[in-house]
Amino acid sequence: MMRMTVLASGSKGNSAVIASSRTRILVDAGLSCRELMRRMHQVGEDPSGLDAILITHEHADHVSGLPVLARKLNIPVYFTEQTHRAWVRQMTPKTTVSYKQWLEQQRREKQERLEAQALAHQIATMPGVLNDAPDDHFFLSDAPTGEIPEFVASAAEHGEPLAASAVHVHAEAERLPDLPPRLGNASTTPDATTDPASALAAAAEDDLCEDTSKALRESIRQNPSFLPAVEYFQAGRHLAIGDIDITPFTIPHDAADPCGFVFAAEGLRIGFATDLGYMPPNVKLALRNCDILLLESNHDLEMLRDGPYPWSVKQRVLSRVGHLSNDACAEFLLRDYDGGAAYVVLAHLSESNNQPDLARRAAEAAVGDRLSLLGNRILLAPQAEPLASLCL
Ligand SMILES: [Zn+2]
Ligand SMILES: [Zn+2]
Repeated sequence: MMRMTVLASGSKGNSAVIASSRTRILVDAGLSCRELMRRMHQVGEDPSGLDAILITHEHADHVSGLPVLARKLNIPVYFTEQTHRAWVRQMTPKTTVSYKQWLEQQRREKQERLEAQALAHQIATMPGVLNDAPDDHFFLSDAPTGEIPEFVASAAEHGEPLAASAVHVHAEAERLPDLPPRLGNASTTPDATTDPASALAAAAEDDLCEDTSKALRESIRQNPSFLPAVEYFQAGRHLAIGDIDITPFTIPHDAADPCGFVFAAEGLRIGFATDLGYMPPNVKLALRNCDILLLESNHDLEMLRDGPYPWSVKQRVLSRVGHLSNDACAEFLLRDYDGGAAYVVLAHLSESNNQPDLARRAAEAAVGDRLSLLGNRILLAPQAEPLASLCL
């Protein structure tokens, strides 16, 4: 038996439970912990029976409930290393330094290293202390003592003129707004995309208002990126959680290291791919022979072009690392899809730039006469409520 229950899908939050008869995995946690718990209870998925949380990528609509949920359930969280790093940066309060301050800090640290090296040399050459010589590796290492802000460092290496401009120590991946600016408000909505840190903090605060113990609340404030256990996986390499075999694959999207997945257990396969700008060959290949296929059908091209987003945002959504349109999804279903799934679930539909009917019609036309009661049933994963469990 395999079961997929989509708890939420869209730019305001994504999460789904994938289960075999022995193992249960939550894929993404993009709603507040409280709302995720509520939806799980609503569809009969006991949260305390989850074995792990698996993260596709670090965008807020996929992780906003993660810090609270993982602590509450005390289960491991699986990321790629790059996604985990990006998430930690996102969760770490920003400090701002000017380029001048950063240069001064580097100069000071270099001076301290030189002094330490000189001291180590002095001690090492003093008579009678040879056996007590300090650890060369520690003293003589040329590694910088402080963490260099990533993009500041690379910009400095390339000689880019950063002087006089304030730069964030923690570079953040650019993210794809799926809300027109007139609706977006980074400080209150977890799906607002201009400031992931504050969006995440807002979601965490939302969770902290109720039924959260004082100790948990305090621990989250002190260390927002703490997780009970972190496991790393890599795209292209199988991993197993319980009896579910997982194949992660790279998807083209503007995040640190975004992945889609194929879950396999008990002779059944579930393919899972949202947040991708187009369908590259590796994704088409990975999604073969699936019994349930969950695929992004994000926007209608005309609605997006004529819609409320600023042109720059439209460009990003349309780009090769943006989101999959109804047409691109349909083209895959028409040309590449093997027609073997019982259910095709259209997911991550934009509320501003799509209509369920448009997505459904495009997919149904592409599936054509392969559509039947037993196979290729097209379903839409909603944002506001869970989709009834699909069980095979
Ligand atoms: Zn995303
Ligand atoms: Zn997303």
